[in-house]
Amino acid sequence: MKPKACVTIVGGGLAGAEAAWQAAERGVPVCLFEMRPTAGTPAHQTDLLAELVCSNSLKSQELTSASGLLHGEAERLGSVIQQAARAHAVPAGTALAVDRTAFAHEVTRRIGGHPLVTVVREEVTEIPVERPVVIATGPLTSSPLAESLRRLFRAHLEERPSQGRAAEGARLLSFYDAISPILATESVDREKIFAASRYGKGGDDYWNCPMTDEEYTAFWRALVEAELYPLHDFENLEEACFFEGCLPVEESARRGREALLYGPLKPVGLTDPRTGRRPCAVVQLRHEDKAGQMVNMVGFQTRLRRAEQQRVFRMIPGLEQAEFFRYGSIHRNTYIPAPLLLEPTLQFRGDKGLFFAGQLIGVEGYLESMASGLLAGINAARLVQGFEPVTPPGDTMLGALLTYVTSTDPSRFQPMNANFGLLPPLEVPVRDRQKRKAALAERSLKAMEAWIRIFA
Ligand SMILES: Cc1cc2nc3c(=O)[nH]c(=O)nc-3n(C[C@H](O)[C@H](O)[C@H](O)COP(=O)(O)OP(=O)(O)OC[C@H]3O[C@@H](n4cnc5c(N)ncnc54)[C@H](O)[C@@H]3O)c2cc1C
Repeated sequence: MKPKACVTIVGGGLAGAEAAWQAAERGVPVCLFEMRPTAGTPAHQTDLLAELVCSNSLKSQELTSASGLLHGEAERLGSVIQQAARAHAVPAGTALAVDRTAFAHEVTRRIGGHPLVTVVREEVTEIPVERPVVIATGPLTSSPLAESLRRLFRAHLEERPSQGRAAEGARLLSFYDAISPILATESVDREKIFAASRYGKGGDDYWNCPMTDEEYTAFWRALVEAELYPLHDFENLEEACFFEGCLPVEESARRGREALLYGPLKPVGLTDPRTGRRPCAVVQLRHEDKAGQMVNMVGFQTRLRRAEQQRVFRMIPGLEQAEFFRYGSIHRNTYIPAPLLLEPTLQFRGDKGLFFAGQLIGVEGYLESMASGLLAGINAARLVQGFEPVTPPGDTMLGALLTYVTSTDPSRFQPMNANFGLLPPLEVPVRDRQKRKAALAERSLKAMEAWIRIFA
């Protein structure tokens, strides 16, 4: 029997398990729906909560890395995922890697054993009517629920013609991610590139990395020979590319040396001011954020392994020292157009009792999913207790990530992981990269601690 005045949570993954813990720890009863084992996903293997479907690493713990900072913030917020991970850590250098079975058993035991949590093993096929409810069904959300979400979003946006134009470019529920790498602006060598738009249309909006014939040939060879991530059984690249028009850059390259020169590396309409000539090939970089800290490699969606992305893409003139804030990838993924639909408190704009969390909101990664679940759990509990939902300050890593996913340009929205490019710059600039990251991390943790004292 479901208790009254409770929080309903759908999905017992990284986000849903954390949300359940946070709400229950605040004294609010929780009803957590998880469909496994009665229904499966193409990736999960067990019926355990918080199963890690692929890597067993929750990334670096060093505070001068973005994931380390998010670890630090989650720890201060009392994350159960974090506690279970520490309890079942395996040696992995500075990363927090875990014995995945022991870790998931621990989370399942702690959530299932919490006196205020009821775990229901049932597939939810429609958005529940109970409020507050947190939807945290992840990148492999089952189809009936995905359909129910799509209907809700369509109706919401149809009622708001002012959002119509933004909505046109955004997909209501994405099925595949075709992601290009994002680089740190400051790591691009400005001496080797030039700013211009094709045929001069659009001012100097793009940064162009010009290649000579020789440079292009070497790059093309390295690209076609580079090592790829394998596709999962349920991932069909042709289907993905058909829907998204997202042929990976290495797949285009395999069609012949010239293919990219008519695709993402086409040089037409671009003249290098230093030579007065059109380069053989041009890689374009587009600004990603208002503060100008991140640039996106246009048309560089890829399945190359991360180390290969570093090796091959750093062959591009101007990118020799490129720092990757986000790597390119192509994989099956369900996520909502959060900039059109969500408040930074993770509430749906059309229904303040409906929360979303996890990979479904367009964050990328175990840690990011867990952290968003953490806030959804806190806020759903606050609503039950008669308080307004809140969001951490924009200079914390969690606050900055949620600001990005809920307020970036909806037509270009793609999932995002924690990275230092999301944080507002320091008031007093620090040139040394490591010292700057340390200063940003210190500022974030202070801001998070102050926020926790008041709200969490
Ligand atoms: C194949 C794959 C590999 C990945 N590898 C990595 C990786 O190595 N590292 C990394 O950081 N991130 C990885 N990710 C991305 C992401 O971080 C993880 O998917 C992460 O688990 C997301 O957390 P979540 O809580 O949002 O979703 P999940 O952890 O997937 O949890 C969602 C839960 O909801 C349940 N569910 C779904 N639909 C329903 C329904 N209708 N009713 C009830 N329950 C439902 C599911 O069974 C599942 O338990 C990967 C994603 C995929 C798909």
